Amino acid sequence: MSLKYCQGPDCHTYHTQDRLKGPKGNKTYQTRRRSHMYYGSGNFCDTKCQHDWLLKYATKAVDHFGRLTKAKHLTEENAWSKRENYWNWQRENGEPRYYIYNGVTKEQRPLTEAQYDDSNYTLNTGE
Ligand SMILES: [Zn+2]
Repeated sequence: MSLKYCQGPDCHTYHTQDRLKGPKGNKTYQTRRRSHMYYGSGNFCDTKCQHDWLLKYATKAVDHFGRLTKAKHLTEENAWSKRENYWNWQRENGEPRYYIYNGVTKEQRPLTEAQYDDSNYTLNTGE
């Protein structure tokens, strides 16, 4: 199991006991290191560190990956999103566990679990 570091630029500046590490008499506050982190796609130890990163790098990141320069439009062709009927009563009413929903036409179509889990599966044909 490999440990990874929190990517928060100021993680080491927050005074918590778990960040205080090192030999007795020479302890320092250090960036958190964990096998699994729950925030920001597994890159940050908490929402504060995630927010610090965003404040520092958001403009650079947006410029790097492509700044939106005109409004996107939700149309019939790109409005499909996957949904799950989580509750038992919905399934007892005959609703499918997984379905795909069009936010413009309100049409619903059942999905198999494999289609639901497949991140490449979509009915969208436009951006
Ligand atoms: Zn952190």
